[in-house]
Amino acid sequence: MVSARLSPFGSTVFTTITARARETGAIDLGQGYPSWEGPDFVKRAAVAAILEASNQYPPSMGVPELRQAIADRWRLDTGAEIDPVANVTVTSGCTEALAATFLGTFDPGDRIVVFEPAYDAYPVGCALAGAQPDYVTLHHPHFEFDPSAVRSALEAGARAILVNTPHNPTGKVFTIEEMKFIADMAIEYDALVITDEVYERMVYEGEHIRMATLPGMWERTITLSSIGKSFSLTGWKTGWAIAPEHLTSAVRAAHQFLTFTTPNPMQLGAAAALRAPAEYYEELSAGYAAKRNKLTDGLGEVGFGVVAPQGAYYVLADHTSFGFPDDLAFVDHLITDVGVAAIPPSYFYHVSEEGRRLVRFAFCKDDDTLDAALVRLQKLRRP
Ligand code: PMP
Ligand code: GLN
Repeated sequence: MVSARLSPFGSTVFTTITARARETGAIDLGQGYPSWEGPDFVKRAAVAAILEASNQYPPSMGVPELRQAIADRWRLDTGAEIDPVANVTVTSGCTEALAATFLGTFDPGDRIVVFEPAYDAYPVGCALAGAQPDYVTLHHPHFEFDPSAVRSALEAGARAILVNTPHNPTGKVFTIEEMKFIADMAIEYDALVITDEVYERMVYEGEHIRMATLPGMWERTITLSSIGKSFSLTGWKTGWAIAPEHLTSAVRAAHQFLTFTTPNPMQLGAAAALRAPAEYYEELSAGYAAKRNKLTDGLGEVGFGVVAPQGAYYVLADHTSFGFPDDLAFVDHLITDVGVAAIPPSYFYHVSEEGRRLVRFAFCKDDDTLDAALVRLQKLRRP
Protein backbone atom coordinates (compact mmCIF):
# COMPACT_ATOMS: atom_id res chain seq x y z
CA MET A 1 0.00 0.00 0.00
CA VAL A 2 1.16 3.51 -0.75
CA SER A 3 1.04 5.63 2.37
CA ALA A 4 -1.09 8.76 2.09
CA ARG A 5 1.73 10.60 3.78
CA LEU A 6 4.71 9.64 1.66
CA SER A 7 7.03 12.08 3.40
CA PRO A 8 7.55 12.16 7.16
CA PHE A 9 7.52 15.94 6.79
CA GLY A 10 4.07 16.00 5.16
CA SER A 11 5.50 17.73 2.09
CA THR A 12 9.02 16.87 0.90
CA VAL A 13 11.87 17.76 3.22
CA PHE A 14 13.13 20.20 0.55
CA THR A 15 9.86 22.12 0.38
CA THR A 16 9.54 22.12 4.16
CA ILE A 17 13.05 23.50 4.72
CA THR A 18 12.80 26.10 1.91
CA ALA A 19 9.51 27.34 3.38
CA ARG A 20 11.11 27.64 6.83
CA ALA A 21 14.09 29.51 5.36
CA ARG A 22 11.72 31.98 3.70
CA GLU A 23 9.67 32.46 6.87
CA THR A 24 12.71 33.06 9.07
CA GLY A 25 15.05 34.87 6.67
CA ALA A 26 17.61 32.06 6.98
CA ILE A 27 20.14 31.73 4.15
CA ASP A 28 18.96 28.71 2.18
CA LEU A 29 21.67 26.07 1.73
CA GLY A 30 18.92 23.44 1.85
CA GLN A 31 17.10 22.63 -1.40
CA GLY A 32 19.51 22.15 -4.31
CA TYR A 33 18.58 24.98 -6.66
CA PRO A 34 21.19 27.43 -8.04
CA SER A 35 20.92 31.03 -6.83
CA TRP A 36 21.55 32.22 -10.40
CA GLU A 37 19.64 31.76 -13.64
CA GLY A 38 20.50 29.45 -16.53
CA PRO A 39 22.33 30.55 -19.71
CA ASP A 40 20.67 33.09 -22.02
CA PHE A 41 21.30 31.07 -25.19
CA VAL A 42 19.12 28.30 -23.76
CA LYS A 43 16.37 30.64 -22.57
CA ARG A 44 16.33 32.44 -25.94
CA ALA A 45 15.88 29.13 -27.75
CA ALA A 46 12.80 28.40 -25.61
CA VAL A 47 11.37 31.88 -26.15
CA ALA A 48 11.88 31.55 -29.91
CA ALA A 49 10.20 28.15 -29.79
CA ILE A 50 7.13 29.63 -28.08
CA LEU A 51 6.88 32.38 -30.69
CA GLU A 52 7.87 30.51 -33.82
CA ALA A 53 7.36 26.77 -33.38
CA SER A 54 4.39 24.58 -32.52
CA ASN A 55 2.71 24.95 -29.15
CA GLN A 56 0.46 21.93 -29.68
CA TYR A 57 1.05 18.44 -28.28
CA PRO A 58 4.56 17.28 -29.09
CA PRO A 59 5.12 13.57 -29.79
CA SER A 60 4.93 11.49 -26.60
CA MET A 61 8.54 10.27 -27.01
CA GLY A 62 9.77 13.89 -27.37
CA VAL A 63 10.45 16.28 -30.25
CA PRO A 64 12.93 14.98 -32.87
CA GLU A 65 15.31 17.96 -32.32
CA LEU A 66 15.82 17.07 -28.65
CA ARG A 67 16.04 13.32 -29.14
CA GLN A 68 18.67 13.92 -31.83
CA ALA A 69 20.59 16.34 -29.55
CA ILE A 70 20.54 13.72 -26.75
CA ALA A 71 21.83 11.05 -29.15
CA ASP A 72 24.55 13.40 -30.45
CA ARG A 73 25.60 14.31 -26.89
CA TRP A 74 25.73 10.57 -26.03
CA ARG A 75 28.04 9.98 -29.01
CA LEU A 76 30.34 12.80 -27.83
CA ASP A 77 30.39 11.43 -24.27
CA THR A 78 30.66 7.70 -25.00
CA GLY A 79 31.64 7.24 -28.65
CA ALA A 80 28.55 5.02 -29.08
CA GLU A 81 25.70 5.52 -31.55
CA ILE A 82 22.14 5.38 -30.25
CA ASP A 83 18.91 5.62 -32.20
CA PRO A 84 16.89 8.72 -31.23
CA VAL A 85 13.65 6.92 -32.16
CA ALA A 86 14.26 3.55 -30.51
CA ASN A 87 16.43 4.53 -27.54
CA VAL A 88 15.51 8.04 -26.32
CA THR A 89 12.40 9.14 -24.42
CA VAL A 90 11.97 12.74 -23.28
CA THR A 91 10.30 13.14 -19.88
CA SER A 92 9.18 15.92 -17.55
CA GLY A 93 12.41 15.99 -15.60
CA CYS A 94 14.39 13.09 -14.23
CA THR A 95 11.66 12.80 -11.60
CA GLU A 96 9.17 11.68 -14.22
CA ALA A 97 11.78 9.49 -15.90
CA LEU A 98 12.25 7.72 -12.55
CA ALA A 99 8.51 7.29 -12.03
CA ALA A 100 8.00 6.02 -15.60
CA THR A 101 10.92 3.61 -15.21
CA PHE A 102 9.65 2.24 -11.89
CA LEU A 103 6.06 1.92 -13.09
CA GLY A 104 7.03 0.56 -16.50
CA THR A 105 9.59 -2.02 -15.39
CA PHE A 106 8.59 -3.20 -11.90
CA ASP A 107 5.76 -5.49 -10.90
CA PRO A 108 4.20 -5.36 -7.45
CA GLY A 109 6.39 -7.34 -5.07
CA ASP A 110 9.62 -6.83 -7.04
CA ARG A 111 12.69 -6.04 -4.95
CA ILE A 112 15.19 -3.35 -5.93
CA VAL A 113 18.67 -2.68 -4.54
CA VAL A 114 18.77 1.00 -3.53
CA PHE A 115 21.84 2.62 -1.99
CA GLU A 116 21.16 4.80 1.04
CA PRO A 117 21.22 7.67 1.83
CA ALA A 118 18.66 7.62 -1.00
CA TYR A 119 17.12 10.55 -2.88
CA ASP A 120 13.49 10.75 -1.76
CA ALA A 121 11.97 9.93 -5.15
CA TYR A 122 13.42 6.38 -4.99
CA PRO A 123 11.49 4.92 -2.06
CA VAL A 124 8.38 6.76 -3.18
CA GLY A 125 8.81 5.49 -6.78
CA CYS A 126 9.16 1.96 -5.44
CA ALA A 127 6.01 2.42 -3.35
CA LEU A 128 4.06 3.70 -6.36
CA ALA A 129 5.04 0.60 -8.32
CA GLY A 130 4.37 -1.72 -5.36
CA ALA A 131 8.06 -2.66 -5.32
CA GLN A 132 10.25 -3.03 -2.26
CA PRO A 133 13.66 -1.35 -1.83
CA ASP A 134 16.51 -3.46 -0.41
CA TYR A 135 18.77 -0.79 1.10
CA VAL A 136 22.55 -1.02 0.97
CA THR A 137 24.25 1.67 3.07
CA LEU A 138 27.01 3.93 1.76
CA HIS A 139 28.97 4.31 4.98
CA HIS A 140 30.10 7.69 6.24
CA PRO A 141 32.70 9.23 5.88
CA HIS A 142 33.89 7.77 2.53
CA PHE A 143 30.54 6.31 1.51
CA GLU A 144 31.76 2.84 0.63
CA PHE A 145 29.35 -0.09 0.54
CA ASP A 146 29.64 -3.71 1.52
CA PRO A 147 29.68 -5.69 -1.74
CA SER A 148 28.30 -8.76 0.01
CA ALA A 149 25.13 -6.77 0.85
CA VAL A 150 24.49 -6.25 -2.88
CA ARG A 151 25.09 -9.93 -3.60
CA SER A 152 22.83 -11.06 -0.75
CA ALA A 153 19.96 -8.86 -1.98
CA LEU A 154 20.29 -10.27 -5.50
CA GLU A 155 20.65 -13.80 -4.16
CA ALA A 156 17.39 -13.25 -2.27
CA GLY A 157 15.65 -12.24 -5.50
CA ALA A 158 16.15 -8.49 -6.10
CA ARG A 159 15.72 -7.88 -9.82
CA ALA A 160 17.17 -4.39 -10.24
CA ILE A 161 19.87 -2.08 -8.90
CA LEU A 162 19.47 1.68 -8.77
CA VAL A 163 22.68 3.71 -8.95
CA ASN A 164 22.92 7.49 -8.56
CA THR A 165 26.34 8.81 -9.55
CA PRO A 166 27.44 11.51 -8.77
CA HIS A 167 25.34 10.92 -5.68
CA ASN A 168 22.87 13.07 -3.80
CA PRO A 169 23.30 13.71 -0.86
CA THR A 170 26.84 12.31 -0.29
CA GLY A 171 28.65 13.72 -3.33
CA LYS A 172 30.10 10.26 -3.94
CA VAL A 173 31.29 9.46 -7.45
CA PHE A 174 31.13 5.67 -7.83
CA THR A 175 34.55 4.33 -8.83
CA ILE A 176 35.21 2.20 -11.89
CA GLU A 177 35.78 -0.78 -9.58
CA GLU A 178 32.41 -0.24 -7.87
CA MET A 179 30.62 0.23 -11.18
CA LYS A 180 32.23 -2.92 -12.61
CA PHE A 181 31.27 -4.86 -9.51
CA ILE A 182 27.64 -3.70 -9.85
CA ALA A 183 27.74 -4.58 -13.56
CA ASP A 184 29.13 -8.06 -12.81
CA MET A 185 26.39 -8.61 -10.23
CA ALA A 186 23.70 -7.44 -12.66
CA ILE A 187 24.98 -9.83 -15.34
CA GLU A 188 25.39 -12.76 -12.97
CA TYR A 189 21.88 -12.34 -11.51
CA ASP A 190 20.24 -11.11 -14.73
CA ALA A 191 19.22 -7.83 -13.07
CA LEU A 192 18.26 -4.48 -14.54
CA VAL A 193 20.32 -1.37 -13.67
CA ILE A 194 18.77 2.08 -13.48
CA THR A 195 21.20 4.98 -13.29
CA ASP A 196 20.32 8.50 -12.21
CA GLU A 197 23.00 10.77 -13.69
CA VAL A 198 21.52 14.24 -13.16
CA TYR A 199 24.83 15.45 -11.64
CA GLU A 200 26.92 14.00 -14.51
CA ARG A 201 28.59 17.38 -15.24
CA MET A 202 29.70 18.00 -11.64
CA VAL A 203 32.68 15.78 -11.01
CA TYR A 204 35.68 17.18 -9.10
CA GLU A 205 37.60 13.98 -8.37
CA GLY A 206 37.46 10.67 -10.17
CA GLU A 207 35.56 10.09 -13.37
CA HIS A 208 31.89 9.84 -14.27
CA ILE A 209 31.35 6.25 -15.39
CA ARG A 210 28.26 5.51 -17.46
CA MET A 211 26.97 2.07 -16.54
CA ALA A 212 25.43 1.59 -20.00
CA THR A 213 28.90 1.74 -21.58
CA LEU A 214 30.42 -1.12 -19.53
CA PRO A 215 30.68 -4.46 -21.36
CA GLY A 216 27.39 -6.36 -21.44
CA MET A 217 25.45 -3.52 -19.77
CA TRP A 218 23.73 -1.62 -22.61
CA GLU A 219 21.05 -4.31 -22.90
CA ARG A 220 20.14 -4.11 -19.20
CA THR A 221 20.59 -0.42 -18.31
CA ILE A 222 18.23 2.54 -18.28
CA THR A 223 20.17 5.83 -18.07
CA LEU A 224 18.25 8.82 -16.70
CA SER A 225 19.22 12.46 -16.64
CA SER A 226 17.90 15.97 -17.19
CA ILE A 227 19.04 19.48 -17.97
CA GLY A 228 18.05 20.88 -14.54
CA LYS A 229 21.47 20.73 -12.86
CA SER A 230 23.76 20.87 -15.91
CA PHE A 231 22.18 24.12 -17.11
CA SER A 232 21.08 25.66 -13.78
CA LEU A 233 17.45 25.40 -14.89
CA THR A 234 15.93 23.24 -12.17
CA GLY A 235 12.47 24.69 -12.89
CA TRP A 236 12.42 23.46 -16.47
CA LYS A 237 11.76 19.83 -15.58
CA THR A 238 13.01 18.44 -18.87
CA GLY A 239 14.75 15.10 -18.73
CA TRP A 240 15.17 11.82 -20.56
CA ALA A 241 15.62 8.08 -20.45
CA ILE A 242 18.16 6.33 -22.67
CA ALA A 243 17.69 2.58 -23.01
CA PRO A 244 17.67 -0.36 -25.42
CA GLU A 245 14.44 -0.77 -27.37
CA HIS A 246 12.80 -3.37 -25.11
CA LEU A 247 13.34 -1.19 -22.00
CA THR A 248 12.41 2.01 -23.85
CA SER A 249 9.02 0.40 -24.61
CA ALA A 250 8.50 -0.22 -20.89
CA VAL A 251 9.39 3.37 -19.95
CA ARG A 252 7.14 4.78 -22.69
CA ALA A 253 4.21 2.58 -21.67
CA ALA A 254 4.13 4.42 -18.33
CA HIS A 255 5.28 7.84 -19.60
CA GLN A 256 2.40 8.15 -22.07
CA PHE A 257 -0.07 8.00 -19.16
CA LEU A 258 1.93 9.91 -16.56
CA THR A 259 2.40 13.15 -18.48
CA PHE A 260 2.03 11.96 -22.12
CA THR A 261 4.65 14.53 -23.13
CA THR A 262 6.77 17.48 -21.99
CA PRO A 263 6.18 21.16 -22.94
CA ASN A 264 7.67 21.66 -26.42
CA PRO A 265 9.33 25.08 -25.84
CA MET A 266 11.38 23.55 -23.01
CA GLN A 267 12.29 20.63 -25.24
CA LEU A 268 13.59 22.95 -27.96
CA GLY A 269 15.45 25.00 -25.34
CA ALA A 270 16.98 21.78 -24.00
CA ALA A 271 18.02 20.78 -27.53
CA ALA A 272 19.94 24.08 -27.80
CA ALA A 273 21.47 23.50 -24.35
CA LEU A 274 22.83 20.08 -25.26
CA ARG A 275 24.65 21.61 -28.23
CA ALA A 276 26.77 23.72 -25.80
CA PRO A 277 30.52 23.56 -26.50
CA ALA A 278 32.88 21.64 -24.21
CA GLU A 279 34.00 24.94 -22.58
CA TYR A 280 30.51 25.43 -21.16
CA TYR A 281 30.77 22.20 -19.16
CA GLU A 282 34.39 22.90 -18.16
CA GLU A 283 33.44 26.30 -16.74
CA LEU A 284 30.44 24.89 -14.91
CA SER A 285 32.49 22.20 -13.25
CA ALA A 286 35.43 24.52 -12.41
CA GLY A 287 33.01 27.06 -10.88
CA TYR A 288 31.44 24.37 -8.72
CA ALA A 289 34.84 22.98 -7.67
CA ALA A 290 35.77 26.44 -6.31
CA LYS A 291 32.45 26.66 -4.41
CA ARG A 292 32.96 23.19 -3.01
CA ASN A 293 36.38 24.23 -1.67
CA LYS A 294 35.02 27.46 -0.20
CA LEU A 295 32.23 25.65 1.65
CA THR A 296 34.27 22.65 2.82
CA ASP A 297 37.12 24.87 4.06
CA GLY A 298 34.68 27.18 5.84
CA LEU A 299 32.73 24.32 7.45
CA GLY A 300 35.98 22.72 8.59
CA GLU A 301 37.07 25.97 10.28
CA VAL A 302 33.77 26.24 12.12
CA GLY A 303 34.21 22.72 13.53
CA PHE A 304 32.22 20.40 11.24
CA GLY A 305 33.69 17.05 10.26
CA VAL A 306 34.02 17.38 6.50
CA VAL A 307 35.23 15.13 3.70
CA ALA A 308 35.15 17.05 0.40
CA PRO A 309 32.56 15.57 -1.98
CA GLN A 310 33.88 14.19 -5.28
CA GLY A 311 30.83 15.32 -7.26
CA ALA A 312 27.32 16.84 -7.27
CA TYR A 313 26.72 20.06 -5.29
CA TYR A 314 26.21 18.96 -1.70
CA VAL A 315 28.41 18.56 1.36
CA LEU A 316 27.33 16.01 3.95
CA ALA A 317 29.05 17.26 7.11
CA ASP A 318 29.32 15.76 10.61
CA HIS A 319 27.74 18.08 13.21
CA THR A 320 28.46 16.00 16.31
CA SER A 321 31.11 18.34 17.72
CA PHE A 322 28.33 20.88 18.45
CA GLY A 323 26.57 18.59 20.91
CA PHE A 324 23.07 18.19 19.41
CA PRO A 325 21.23 14.87 19.82
CA ASP A 326 20.40 14.42 16.12
CA ASP A 327 20.15 16.09 12.72
CA LEU A 328 16.60 17.36 13.25
CA ALA A 329 17.55 19.17 16.46
CA PHE A 330 20.69 20.52 14.82
CA VAL A 331 18.87 21.83 11.72
CA ASP A 332 16.23 23.39 13.91
CA HIS A 333 18.94 25.29 15.79
CA LEU A 334 20.66 26.23 12.50
CA ILE A 335 17.52 27.76 11.01
CA THR A 336 16.17 29.41 14.15
CA ASP A 337 19.29 30.61 15.93
CA VAL A 338 22.07 30.67 13.35
CA GLY A 339 20.06 31.79 10.30
CA VAL A 340 21.21 29.12 7.85
CA ALA A 341 18.92 26.44 6.39
CA ALA A 342 20.19 22.93 5.58
CA ILE A 343 18.69 19.47 5.09
CA PRO A 344 18.46 16.88 7.90
CA PRO A 345 19.74 13.78 6.11
CA SER A 346 18.16 11.10 8.31
CA TYR A 347 15.28 11.58 5.89
CA PHE A 348 17.42 9.82 3.23
CA TYR A 349 18.27 6.83 5.45
CA HIS A 350 16.01 3.83 6.02
CA VAL A 351 18.20 1.28 7.75
CA SER A 352 21.30 3.00 9.09
CA GLU A 353 21.23 5.64 11.84
CA GLU A 354 24.25 7.45 10.35
CA GLY A 355 22.11 10.33 9.06
CA ARG A 356 21.49 11.53 12.60
CA ARG A 357 25.07 12.77 12.95
CA LEU A 358 25.10 14.53 9.54
CA VAL A 359 23.73 17.64 7.87
CA ARG A 360 23.50 18.43 4.14
CA PHE A 361 24.53 21.84 2.78
CA ALA A 362 24.07 22.77 -0.90
CA PHE A 363 26.80 24.87 -2.53
CA CYS A 364 24.96 25.77 -5.76
CA LYS A 365 24.86 29.36 -4.46
CA ASP A 366 26.69 32.54 -5.44
CA ASP A 367 29.87 33.35 -3.52
CA ASP A 368 28.26 36.20 -1.55
CA THR A 369 25.56 33.82 -0.28
CA LEU A 370 28.13 31.18 0.68
CA ASP A 371 30.31 33.80 2.42
CA ALA A 372 27.34 35.25 4.30
CA ALA A 373 26.29 31.76 5.41
CA LEU A 374 29.82 31.00 6.62
CA VAL A 375 29.86 34.23 8.64
CA ARG A 376 26.59 33.22 10.32
CA LEU A 377 27.88 29.69 10.94
CA GLN A 378 30.70 31.20 13.03
CA LYS A 379 28.05 31.47 15.78
CA LEU A 380 28.42 27.72 16.22
CA ARG A 381 32.08 28.04 17.19
CA ARG A 382 32.86 27.10 20.71
CA PRO A 383 34.81 29.80 22.63
N1 PMP B 1 17.62 12.70 -9.06
C1 PMP B 1 18.39 13.31 -8.15
C2 PMP B 1 19.47 12.53 -7.48
C3 PMP B 1 18.19 14.65 -7.83
O1 PMP B 1 18.93 15.24 -6.89
C4 PMP B 1 17.17 15.36 -8.49
C5 PMP B 1 17.02 16.80 -8.13
N2 PMP B 1 15.86 17.37 -8.22
C6 PMP B 1 16.38 14.67 -9.44
C7 PMP B 1 16.64 13.35 -9.70
C8 PMP B 1 15.24 15.31 -10.16
O2 PMP B 1 15.62 15.94 -11.33
P1 PMP B 1 14.59 16.80 -12.20
O3 PMP B 1 14.52 18.15 -11.60
O4 PMP B 1 15.14 16.78 -13.56
O5 PMP B 1 13.25 16.10 -12.12
N1 GLN C 1 17.17 17.63 -5.90
C1 GLN C 1 16.88 18.70 -4.99
C2 GLN C 1 17.70 18.49 -3.71
O1 GLN C 1 18.13 17.40 -3.44
C3 GLN C 1 15.43 18.78 -4.57
C4 GLN C 1 14.42 18.79 -5.61
C5 GLN C 1 13.04 18.81 -5.00
O2 GLN C 1 12.73 19.70 -4.21
N2 GLN C 1 12.27 17.85 -5.32
O3 GLN C 1 17.84 19.43 -3.00
